[in-house]
Amino acid sequence: MELLRWRVEQPLGAARARTCGHLEPAPAPAARTAGCGACLRSGGSWVNLLLCTSCGEVGCCDSSPGRHAHGHAERTGHPVARTLKAGEVWGWCYVDEVFLVPAH
Ligand SMILES: [Zn+2]
Ligand SMILES: [Zn+2]
Ligand SMILES: [Zn+2]
Repeated sequence: MELLRWRVEQPLGAARARTCGHLEPAPAPAARTAGCGACLRSGGSWVNLLLCTSCGEVGCCDSSPGRHAHGHAERTGHPVARTLKAGEVWGWCYVDEVFLVPAH
């Protein structure tokens, strides 16, 4: 199983280093659904998809009407989601509000 290792992306010119307390390498769960789980149930549509790295729930991004990835993080406390956009590898920590990029 793929092991995700993240580091926090430091914005240029930031006064203080950003930190995230959720960087322990963990096995990446498989996506539960091919699209946003909540949108598929409700008939909604999405712009981009994020995968919860805690449980494999797929949710739509904050540019989507449902913002289900955000809702999932708030409801469950699962901190980190990674993009499912082809060719892109980054994550977002909803607790620390930082971008995560691969550590290697
Ligand atoms: Zn964090
Ligand atoms: Zn959705
Ligand atoms: Zn989750």
